[in-house]
Amino acid sequence: MTSAIRFSGVSRHYGDVRAVDNVDLDIAEGEFFAMLGPSGSGKTTSLRLIAGFERPTAGEIRIFGQVAQGIPPYRRNVNTVFQDYALFPHLNVRDNVAYGLMVAGQPKAQRHGAADGALEMVALTGYGDRKPSELSGGQRQRVALARALVNEPKALLLDEPLGALDLKLREQMQEELKSLQRSLGITFIFVTHDQGEALSMADRVAVFNEGRIVQIGAPETIYFRPETPFVADFVGSSNVLPPEFVAQLTGRKAHGALRPEAVHLSEQGHSATVRSVSFLGAATRIGIRIGDVPMTMLLPKSDTFPKVGDTVTVNWAAEDLHVMDRA
Ligand code: ADP
Ligand code: MG
Repeated sequence: MTSAIRFSGVSRHYGDVRAVDNVDLDIAEGEFFAMLGPSGSGKTTSLRLIAGFERPTAGEIRIFGQVAQGIPPYRRNVNTVFQDYALFPHLNVRDNVAYGLMVAGQPKAQRHGAADGALEMVALTGYGDRKPSELSGGQRQRVALARALVNEPKALLLDEPLGALDLKLREQMQEELKSLQRSLGITFIFVTHDQGEALSMADRVAVFNEGRIVQIGAPETIYFRPETPFVADFVGSSNVLPPEFVAQLTGRKAHGALRPEAVHLSEQGHSATVRSVSFLGAATRIGIRIGDVPMTMLLPKSDTFPKVGDTVTVNWAAEDLHVMDRA
């Protein structure tokens, strides 16, 4: 497996701020890789380090095997799609897409041909003569994508590219990006703070917190086997159970992660007090307490929801309680 991007002990500090802090990372060629984390966790800085807009204060980055140090952004074989698209309002769509090729000195016929090819890839054939202002938000997003693809980079860096779109369009673009990546076969590095987006799109996810990668793995692993309370809480809002409680249940004293949908009403099990009931549409979220341990359960459609103040009996399958021994 050839490595597209490799970080070895990479840091980017700004004074006391450790934007990226001693990160090791190995992204394979052709992989759809997501960087997931809350605001300020170092995702954008990591992308900027790959793109060459920032330099590490420590460590080494390799891009397709080559040490990145000293290689300018335009020679790195990677392009970035920014959240705000950064299109030129006075240029039409074709010239926006061809802009980089123009700067590189490519003749007009050739760069226009390449731009039209890139527009076809993003399903915007025929839109070349329009101005960005004559496009919808989703179409502008595609133009930004076409512009990043036009010179055939080996890796595409996408920084929260769908953040400005409404939910329905975002879901549609998620599928399109996924299939585009599959058909192009190039490496995508996709930054998001949306766990659902990361889990549904990526081959692997790196979870960032405070400049560090706290867990890296397949979506199922991140979701079902979080290694730390932070990951359990951030990815899919697992119940994080205190070590004392987990010790009573399993004999192992460590934080536990229990998915809300794994908890159900039961004849036998733990006595719990209902603290809140929220109707979500497809499911209902019930806040409960077992002793002093707060928990959330997610009940599918049912005729008989408990009410706030009720005492109920709840349970879960033993294998659904994931003990985070490695934290
Ligand atoms: P994310 O993209 O995950 O929201 P960033 O990589 O943008 O996070 O930022 C990580 C941290 O580094 C934040 O605390 C941010 O304020 C800080 N930071 C980023 N760029 C700079 C800069 N140029 N100067 C000082 N601090 C910065
Ligand atoms: Mg960011």
